[in-house]
Amino acid sequence: MTVDVPFIAPGATLGVMGGGQLARMFVHAAQQMGYATAVLDADPASPAGLIAHHHLRADYLDAEALDQLADLSAAVTTEFENVPARALELLAQRRPVAPAAAAVAVCQDRAAEKAHFVRSGVACAPHAVIATPDQLAAVDDALLPGILKTARLGYDGKGQRRVTTRAQLADAWARFDRQVCVLEKMLPLAHEISVIVARAANGDVVHLPVQQNLHRDGILAVTIVPAPDVATEVVERAIAHAHRIVSTLDYVGVLCIEFFVLSDGALVVNEMAPRPHNSGHYSIDACDLSQFDLQVRAMTGAPLIAPRLHSPCVMLNLLGELWLERGAGLARRAPAPVRQDRGACRPQDGPPDRDRGHREPGRPHRARGRGASGFGGLVAR
Ligand code: ADP
Ligand code: MG
Repeated sequence: MTVDVPFIAPGATLGVMGGGQLARMFVHAAQQMGYATAVLDADPASPAGLIAHHHLRADYLDAEALDQLADLSAAVTTEFENVPARALELLAQRRPVAPAAAAVAVCQDRAAEKAHFVRSGVACAPHAVIATPDQLAAVDDALLPGILKTARLGYDGKGQRRVTTRAQLADAWARFDRQVCVLEKMLPLAHEISVIVARAANGDVVHLPVQQNLHRDGILAVTIVPAPDVATEVVERAIAHAHRIVSTLDYVGVLCIEFFVLSDGALVVNEMAPRPHNSGHYSIDACDLSQFDLQVRAMTGAPLIAPRLHSPCVMLNLLGELWLERGAGLARRAPAPVRQDRGACRPQDGPPDRDRGHREPGRPHRARGRGASGFGGLVAR
């Protein structure tokens, strides 16, 4: 379905549900384009709330706050997938909400997400949904060894257990309190890539250049653009798949889709996030339009323009412990290689165990074939 939405001109206020680091970068982009901003987040010191024109300090389902947000905002977006769908539905009764509650709900649930990939005709890992003891008993042996993932609320490798035997599987499911899980077959990964797409209400889709990502302990450590180890043909296939996935979801906004490239060259979609993504922060400095610019454009009905990568780059995802003391100046606290290297460095507020900044030292050849170790142990481990 495509609809023509009226363009929301600069000067209007844009609302965002959630006030973390992603919302903060959204607020920066919106303000730079001339919009005012309103953030709904209960935390009085939320990173985005601190810099927005309006900060509504309330829970996501607070009816009065949602009304206020709708009063203030010409359109509303969300910074993360776990904002209650009900809150987005309530807002949507009064204002355009991008992405819509139904699309966010698919991304909140690995089982629904996998079903969407299958519907879109894009291969994902062989898997089984486990919601009942019968479904556990019926699991095909071919899915082992596998990874049991909770259907909801997993991130950075949390809510996952690797299992080799049926006994381990049963034990892992019990440890997850028998909540709904997805068991995925363990695949031989050669590389991981992500594609960030933006889709407008009129159906136009654009994408960022494809990123190659390296994870350490389930957490994004390094992103390299253009993807150095992935064949052009595979990159193009990933882009085509991403366009199909976002369009069949009838999605409006920025969507990040993670893919695995297997050792035989096959491409498998892993998961998606209904928002800008860690692996796309490089676009702020290395592209002429960032993922946050696209988020603003998609929700305001401004034309979507395909971002151009003007500087090939390597981005390190630096975690909080590198900063040591909350609030300490980056120049004083950051390790010497970060201080001395030329490039952009963007510290972000947030809890110490979460991503606290990213850095784009550039010169992709330095990282090629060396993985994260090429950066003196700076990356998360
Ligand atoms: P999260 O929400 O924590 O990012 P993911 O599903 O992306 O969860 O899994 C985290 C990481 O675990 C992936 O980036 C990948 O390295 C590894 N992984 C996940 N699923 C599989 C799989 N089926 N086979 C092999 N490795 C996997
Ligand atoms: Mg992931």
